Amino acid sequence: MRVKIFCASEEDRYLYMKYKPETLDYEFTAETLTDENAELARGMDAIVIQTRCIITTKLAGMLKDMGVKEILTRSVGYDHMDLKAMRQVGLKGANVAVYSPNAIAEYTCTVAMMLLRRMPAQMTKIGKGDFTLAGIRGREIRKLTIGVVGAGRIGLETIKIMAGFGGEVLVYDVRQNEEISQIATYVSIDDLYEKSDVIIFHCPLLKENYHMVNKDTIARMKDGVVLINSARGGLWDYEDVCSALKVKKISAAGFDVFEGEDKYLRKNVETSEIPKVLKELLSMDNVIYTAHSAFYTDVAIENMIEVTTENLTDYEKGIKCRNELIGDDQK
Ligand code: NAD
Repeated sequence: MRVKIFCASEEDRYLYMKYKPETLDYEFTAETLTDENAELARGMDAIVIQTRCIITTKLAGMLKDMGVKEILTRSVGYDHMDLKAMRQVGLKGANVAVYSPNAIAEYTCTVAMMLLRRMPAQMTKIGKGDFTLAGIRGREIRKLTIGVVGAGRIGLETIKIMAGFGGEVLVYDVRQNEEISQIATYVSIDDLYEKSDVIIFHCPLLKENYHMVNKDTIARMKDGVVLINSARGGLWDYEDVCSALKVKKISAAGFDVFEGEDKYLRKNVETSEIPKVLKELLSMDNVIYTAHSAFYTDVAIENMIEVTTENLTDYEKGIKCRNELIGDDQK
């Protein structure tokens, strides 16, 4: 089975080869797959992509015509894949349903604590030789209410850490989990917005929650709320977040994801290529932005490549892939 692995770094190549079964034949490229360079997939049975490879309706058709049968994403999220278009042309698809959720949860709590202790502002001040305490008084988690939107595998780990610090944790999810009920309280999204000092987003991006953080929902939140997005850029209207930061309705924001990030992610770009609103957010000392790196730990990368290899092996054996996305009603 011939497989092309896109967006492959040196580290990825080493790990793919470490887990490679003899029956799989790999070709690596550092390129991000796009409509324009689809020819790179010609002759392949399967391709492995990352979240910056956007599988459009057009690309799904082109890949199918070239003989590709399966598209595997090396990520939990699969909103970059048009599953409907893939199903229509007869392509199969799989994701990595689980890899170290702790990687993203630990990142999230780190960012929350950095913002609550005003670390970006402190570092800027000290860099300028200002060693005073002006403007850097922090807040303690045990005195705060932490709202978590989307409490699946990652959300659960974040909730455990936040509860461990003694914070009161409120949760909104479309379904409930007994383990979480013992350490946190399920509430409606309206209650969560109204009562939380820190709101963390760990839910998937779906049509129904696109821009769920916008000027109307921000207006319902506490004055001085801290917002954190570790899930997908499309969950927030960043123009509205920026406006609310300017008037201090939001006291601080941390995000690992940004809408349209696929245009610049993993590249060195000119400042003119950075979206205007992102540049404005980056100029603020109460904002932390990281370039979709919450997942990036030693344990998580190895997990992702191990699971992707298992997915490829299922396809190669002609058995139902354990992480199949197409035709699985639960996904
Ligand atoms: P998961 O499927 O285990 O959990 C998602 C949870 O969200 C589920 O409990 C689900 O019921 C809930 N949910 C679904 N729709 C919802 C809605 N409209 N409102 C509230 N909750 C809703 O997934 P996970 O492994 O915890 O990952 C969550 C998301 O994190 C992924 O979809 C992905 O977008 C993002 N992610 C980001 C990174 C990163 O590096 N920044 C890495 C991995 C995952």
